[in-house]
Amino acid sequence: MTTDSHKPIYLDHHATTPIDPRVLTAMLPYFTEHFGNPTSTTHQYGWAAEAAVTGARETIAAAIGASPEEIVFTSGATEANNLALKGIAEAYFAKGQHIITLQTEHNAVLDPCVYLESLGFTVTYLPVKLDGLLDLDRLKDAIRPDTILVSIMAANNEIGVIQPLAEIGKICRERSILFHTDAAQAIGKIPLDVNLLNIDLMSITAHKVYGPKGIGALYVRRRNPRVKISPQLHGGGHERGMRSGTLYPPQIVGFAKAVEIALADIDPNTSKLIELRERLWSQLSPIEGIYLNGHPTQRLAGNLNISVAGVDGNALLLGLRPTVALSSGAACSSAKIAPSHVLQAIGRSESLAYAALRFGIGHTNTVGEIDRVAQATIETIQSLRKLALRS
Ligand SMILES: *Cc1c(COP(=O)(O)O)cnc(C)c1O
Repeated sequence: MTTDSHKPIYLDHHATTPIDPRVLTAMLPYFTEHFGNPTSTTHQYGWAAEAAVTGARETIAAAIGASPEEIVFTSGATEANNLALKGIAEAYFAKGQHIITLQTEHNAVLDPCVYLESLGFTVTYLPVKLDGLLDLDRLKDAIRPDTILVSIMAANNEIGVIQPLAEIGKICRERSILFHTDAAQAIGKIPLDVNLLNIDLMSITAHKVYGPKGIGALYVRRRNPRVKISPQLHGGGHERGMRSGTLYPPQIVGFAKAVEIALADIDPNTSKLIELRERLWSQLSPIEGIYLNGHPTQRLAGNLNISVAGVDGNALLLGLRPTVALSSGAACSSAKIAPSHVLQAIGRSESLAYAALRFGIGHTNTVGEIDRVAQATIETIQSLRKLALRS
């Protein structure tokens, strides 16, 4: 990867990642040469596209221990989450109308839950512990006879905390309650086997793992138990009726390639990212009034989220802007001026929730970049504190 000295260092890999050049190469023929519609079964243009989609579906299914017919392609994790929550709520309406989720979920889970509440469903938003992890006893206590679904994310997009999926899956399975997980940040970064973890539905996306934007999938379990979902897009009956709309072969091929590459290198990537993250934290942690947000080790390797006391969050981001591209929290909500709901859920005061930095390290980042970012962060905090003293 070339470095452009005029561009800030990219440390916003939880918002999105660049496409791996190998992914792009795999995608290109499906825009031009093999442009067919994969559901055109009467000619070889369609067959070529269909073969590519079939291969990609097998790769993605194998990556999560699923079978190919359990993969429903969507436009991303937002759509997959909507399909899971609304699709289950509609299909299991007669069984019950109670759903359990977490206060620290992405808006793509929280907002469909709020919508379902407006239709008469009841949603329990479980709190998390100060380290961002779910308290399993609280989950057990929240389950009611009319609970149809537990939706708990795999890894948090702000503080990187990885929830105890195996334990959650076990609790749900023992009580015959469906378990959905939003694994947008987790796919390709931590091992995810839907059978080992007792996951019934799982949302994934390509663009957080060096694949293209605009493509994702919902895993829907077909046996033990066979999960039913009501479609949210009606039309040509694609994806076994669960999601109509012409499939997008270049994106699907790119998605599979990205997942394949990520899993092949998962161990070296994880150790490299942990090394970079610890290098950054060891330089920042001596600063007075700096707090690590989220569990110190039970988190994504590339995630460091900190709060800084006594500085204005916006001024901090502004000061860092020439050096480093990062955000204070979720990209999709950074237009809002409200403090992060995730940081508030882990007990941060409003001012600490405002003054947060989310460093999302990716595997193209270097030791030199991390040191420059650490230096710039230290200097910006020092100068903002000096200014605050003077005024
Ligand atoms: C990015 C993200 C989403 C949304 O995924 P898209 O594919 O961009 O729609 C959902 N959940 C989490 C946890 C995310 O990080």
